[in-house]
Amino acid sequence: MSKEICPAHNCTGCGACVAVCPKRCISLQPNPQGHLLPQIDENVCVNCNLCYRTCPANTPVPLHESQACYAAWAKDEKDRITSSSGGASSVFAMHFIEQGGVVYGAALENNKIQHIRVSSKQELPRLKGSKYVYSYAADVYSLLKQDLVAGKQVLFIGTPCQNAAVYNLMGGHSNLTLVNLICHGVPAMQMLTDYLKAKNITKIRQIQFRNNNKFEFACNDYNAYECLFPNAYMTLFLNGVTYRESCYRCAYAQAKRVGDITIGDFWELEKQTPFTEKDLTKGCSCILVNTEKGNSLLNLCADKLNLFKREYVEAIRGNGQLRAPYPYTPCAKRFNALYPRYTFRRAALYSSAPVLTIEWIKLLLKKYAPQQIQQFCFKLYRRFRGI
Ligand SMILES: Cc1cc2nc3c(=O)[nH]c(=O)nc-3n(C[C@H](O)[C@H](O)[C@H](O)COP(=O)(O)OP(=O)(O)OC[C@H]3O[C@@H](n4cnc5c(N)ncnc54)[C@H](O)[C@@H]3O)c2cc1C
Ligand code: SF4
Ligand code: SF4
Ligand code: SF4
Repeated sequence: MSKEICPAHNCTGCGACVAVCPKRCISLQPNPQGHLLPQIDENVCVNCNLCYRTCPANTPVPLHESQACYAAWAKDEKDRITSSSGGASSVFAMHFIEQGGVVYGAALENNKIQHIRVSSKQELPRLKGSKYVYSYAADVYSLLKQDLVAGKQVLFIGTPCQNAAVYNLMGGHSNLTLVNLICHGVPAMQMLTDYLKAKNITKIRQIQFRNNNKFEFACNDYNAYECLFPNAYMTLFLNGVTYRESCYRCAYAQAKRVGDITIGDFWELEKQTPFTEKDLTKGCSCILVNTEKGNSLLNLCADKLNLFKREYVEAIRGNGQLRAPYPYTPCAKRFNALYPRYTFRRAALYSSAPVLTIEWIKLLLKKYAPQQIQQFCFKLYRRFRGI
């Protein structure tokens, strides 16, 4: 058995160990559920321990109290509605490109989601949109280092665990800005591939997990939101059933934040003055400023954003992962025991029938029930769930 860099249940698959190894003898390999874990070729390893020391699970990165909290959206209407929430990440990315810098973020590449390097405005749209699946980033860290050595301004956007990986690899380099997402967890790419295979999709030409602030999954010509049955992939993702083990004990799902800026959705803002539901239908980002560098970036982009200073408690109220990791529910445990013994669809059905049924009822109500009945049922459901 290959030696462990950190306990498997803490491994986020960030890939820092792969990038730092001087002998290139670490690769990320799928476990039975498809979550990638490092494997060392012990015939090549020289026991330098660099992987062990760089791993954020062994060497934790500094976390910051947020200095300020904003609700925000891009002033450019098109930018706002083509993003998943308010388009904050897109505004930051454009700023770096306009200054001659480079941006690293998640995109569809070679039939999977992975981090890519972007250096032109034309390529920027590839980063847009939340991809609700693990993004493989191990291969871009060496490019990122080359950019820093060449004196370029670099923006890296990713999950908090990926921000931690970049921090441990590059340190607090003055030309490097780290932006992370509020993150409740990632399913394995294998799960998405299996789900799509059942829909006869083996080559992903385009994929959408969200249509602005609506969770509407679509891939190639298949629009899951037009179907009468719930989309098992998204239902299990949104109910925290399919995440990797590290997500249920995530060190970054808390009020103190990694990186320079944290962005997410500003849920439940419509309940606060001066906002109305109409203001927010096109998406609203939550921006947490974690460091002075983050503050400077926000100031430099302020003319491209509608910014509203808010209390941090408001952001936390609507976003559980600013308090604690997503709980490892009985459904998630059952799913991990069943998949991949059964296909993704069957494992979803056998492990999570209640959540899929609730989703199905919601779908039918939205499609067929009059507005008043819909509102009454959703109110009843929220009261029952205590939300
Ligand atoms: C797996 C995942 C879980 C999330 N969970 C929450 C949550 O619990 N609460 C919340 O408020 N927000 C969550 N978000 C963030 C939210 O979906 C939006 O991405 C965020 O609000 C930024 O929106 P935006 O409009 O600025 O940009 P978007 O148009 O959404 O652009 C998103 C940016 O994130 C990067 N990105 C996209 N997918 C991934 C990925 N899989 N891994 C790493 N980087 C990626 C892209 O490179 C891009 O730069 C999550 C995002 C992801 C990817
Ligand atoms: S100990 Fe050194 S050589 Fe061995 S896998 Fe880790 S980084 Fe690579
Ligand atoms: S560096 Fe990242 S991928 Fe490697 S063992 Fe640590 S957490 Fe896992
Ligand atoms: S929940 Fe934590 S461990 Fe999982 S992807 Fe998000 S930041 Fe990484």
